[in-house]
Amino acid sequence: NQAGAFLIRESESLKGEFSLSVFDGEFVKHYRIRKLDEGGFFLSRRRTFKTLNEFVDYYSKNNDGLCVKLGKPCLKVQIPTTFDLSYKTVDQWEIDRNSLKFLKKLGSGQFGEVWEGLWNNTTPVAIKTLKPGSMDPKDFLREAQIMKNLRHPKLIQLYAVCTLEDPIYIITELMRYGSLLEYLQNDAGSQICLSHQIDMAAQVASGMAYLESQNYIHRDLAARNVLVGEHNIYKVADFGLARVFKVENENIYEAKHETKLPVKWTAPEAIHCNKFSIKSDVWSFGILLFEIITYGKMPYAGMAGHQVIQMLDKGYRLPQPDNCPKPLYDIMLQCWNAEAKGRPTFETLQWQLEDYFEVGDSSYADTRTILK
Ligand code: ATP
Repeated sequence: NQAGAFLIRESESLKGEFSLSVFDGEFVKHYRIRKLDEGGFFLSRRRTFKTLNEFVDYYSKNNDGLCVKLGKPCLKVQIPTTFDLSYKTVDQWEIDRNSLKFLKKLGSGQFGEVWEGLWNNTTPVAIKTLKPGSMDPKDFLREAQIMKNLRHPKLIQLYAVCTLEDPIYIITELMRYGSLLEYLQNDAGSQICLSHQIDMAAQVASGMAYLESQNYIHRDLAARNVLVGEHNIYKVADFGLARVFKVENENIYEAKHETKLPVKWTAPEAIHCNKFSIKSDVWSFGILLFEIITYGKMPYAGMAGHQVIQMLDKGYRLPQPDNCPKPLYDIMLQCWNAEAKGRPTFETLQWQLEDYFEVGDSSYADTRTILK
């Protein structure tokens, strides 16, 4: 696809509405196409069109606020979406561990290692190996039963498990570029601009909006648990796993390594009363926005977990990072509402982020300022 490649599609967040996605040569920008009550379409009220064809025709000749003039319709890339390893595994989640070949260690976390591997010598997969004793296989299988039915383009798909002996293996789709946290830190801002950061956030919000619609709670949403694939695709990983892990260090207020201090991502009511909900995930999403905009900085740097909790209870919140536009910081503050009920839904967060650069009448001037 060349700069200007575009697609008009049904909006993901607003049923029956249309969105325009345009490739500016580097990134894809999304715009909401608004409808007139009397029929017709517009991006900005200054110019309205009777039909979408007229709309496309006009923006092919004038960019008039769009990132670039419309060029050719977007080419369709055929990405194979194998939700299951093969037809055989659809209902057979337990696979033979000998069918897995371990190729390269990708990383290690608190509870085990992650390897790039091949299933049946053909299908690339990620294999998560769990340290013996890190969870009760029965608990895990109960959770996996739910996880395998959670399917969304912005969620890491669970393919299969090996639970008959230790170590337990969790086999998922493989993401080429690893965790979002490392991705943000490696580039240290040299390659990543605001529209790219907003796109990351919108993709995560979309995956989380799906979990919200399924009444499922992530419990450990953070940049370290978002994975990066090809073509700027971001997916939420490790949902639900936090519930089944046996936490050795029961005292979550003080962890040895600051980098693994989940308390800084956790909503106050979850810390104080163990009240995890989709709204505590929204709090964590606010911290994830902070990580995205600061290129992977540690939130509340230099502060210990118990200090953070005390400060939050007094009303303190992470300050606005230098490069963070006010509208984005306002979204973060909404996520950190002390009252869980007062926080936005992921559905709302998704459209707020997808429409961030919308060429609306009121936001038009702001958008141009932000883009500069
Ligand atoms: P924690 O154990 O505290 O959740 P973590 O999320 O960093 O920490 P893991 O989930 O074990 O730990 O992942 C370790 C690393 O392996 C990640 O940081 C990422 O770089 C890589 N990784 C994990 N899953 C995948 C995957 N599906 N595809 C590619 N790389 C992955």
